[in-house]
Amino acid sequence: MGNQVMGIAKPAVVVVGAGPAGLIAADHLSRRGAAVTVHESMPSPARKLLMAGRGGLNLTHSEPVETFLGRYREAEDRLTPVIRAFDPQALRTWCGELGIETFVGSSGRVFPRQMKASPLVRALLARLAANGVRLQTRSTWTGLGEDGALHFEGPDGSSQARADAALLALGGASWPRLGSNAQWVPLLASRGVAVSDLQPANAGISVSWSQHLRERFAGTPLKRIAITVGDRRIAGEAVVTASGLEGGAVYALTPELRARIANSGRADISIDLRPDLDLENLRQRLSRPRGKQSLSNHLRKSTGLPPVAVALLSEPGARPADPEQLAARIKALPLVATGFPAPERAISSAGGIMWDAIDDTFMLTALPGIHVAGEMLDWEAPTGGYLLQACFATGLAAAHGAAARLGL
Ligand SMILES: Cc1cc2nc3c(=O)[nH]c(=O)nc-3n(C[C@H](O)[C@H](O)[C@H](O)COP(=O)(O)OP(=O)(O)OC[C@H]3O[C@@H](n4cnc5c(N)ncnc54)[C@H](O)[C@@H]3O)c2cc1C
Repeated sequence: MGNQVMGIAKPAVVVVGAGPAGLIAADHLSRRGAAVTVHESMPSPARKLLMAGRGGLNLTHSEPVETFLGRYREAEDRLTPVIRAFDPQALRTWCGELGIETFVGSSGRVFPRQMKASPLVRALLARLAANGVRLQTRSTWTGLGEDGALHFEGPDGSSQARADAALLALGGASWPRLGSNAQWVPLLASRGVAVSDLQPANAGISVSWSQHLRERFAGTPLKRIAITVGDRRIAGEAVVTASGLEGGAVYALTPELRARIANSGRADISIDLRPDLDLENLRQRLSRPRGKQSLSNHLRKSTGLPPVAVALLSEPGARPADPEQLAARIKALPLVATGFPAPERAISSAGGIMWDAIDDTFMLTALPGIHVAGEMLDWEAPTGGYLLQACFATGLAAAHGAAARLGL
């Protein structure tokens, strides 16, 4: 099966999926001496990574590694050794070796200096080509033959590939038009691989706004707020949309929101519109004489709330005039989330191949010789660079696993 190069047989590895996890795996395996072919269903590689680049490409985060690892919640234990082995600094070094300089933003998040993904993708593809990696686009993996061959569909019909090792990095279920459409789920589940349901993560929520709020404020950011769901409170930013709310503070609460919405079709959320002021301070400010000012003007001037926040105060019902009640509403604006209006537009997905279905080398125990990596595994994390870090780190871990098995 190995390719003959100058009389030396190179082990053949097929990587399926040219996203960050698949591409870093191809990079490592080709540098270790494997003959690597990457199959990608889309006409060009790394479409989601390039899309992520439109938002500046938050590659990773510079916070202490213990805090960083905690972001993976239930998957923390499984991801800890992998991310410790390829940590945020190692990712920055890897980018640097590809000629991509990175910097730490004021929030601690790490970005490429050029604030986009295309230079990184270009540099990586050039290195892969230089290392002899073949990239076969428009080639969709459709399953495995009884003999273990990988089956593909492309513009010229069906084909098969046999390899000494295979690595699947097919992504999750968000933004299916960029290629990760989760069509792999039944293919693996039917071969005995345990896969938990793919669900939206880092997704906007539906809130039933008044016509006034929707028409006047859709698209308006809500800065420096804190949102609470159950006993979890997240400080950050959100954006009012026509159908509800999106943005970092909402995304970080997706696990809590998802559980409540799945249970009862709704999730109660509470927004603190002035986290920096306590209830008593707000009450005093609101109790100042307002003279000839309208209540709205008085409210804005005394509390410093932007117009969108003032409008939000009337969403749960008539805005109270009493300073104490009004202060309480500013500190805990009650809203109801009823669902995720556009799961296909979520930043990422939760669920996927369960950890018990793989061994420490990221090989599927039901399908020996096939390693898996990236967002198709069962973990989730908030935005902030944690998604790409885990995709790159698991891609590399799976590549190490395959390389060790092949004696590379
Ligand atoms: C708008 C947006 C912005 C984002 N911004 C950030 C950010 O700033 N920071 C961050 O950390 N994360 C961000 N993410 C998330 C991040 O891009 C993903 O988590 C990451 O790309 C997942 O990597 P992956 O390699 O696992 O899968 P993917 O990048 O989804 O790649 C999987 C590849 O497999 C291919 N494929 C799927 N099925 C098949 C098949 N059957 N045969 C052949 N090929 C197949 C797909 O076409 C795709 O190219 C963002 C996501 C979105 C949508």
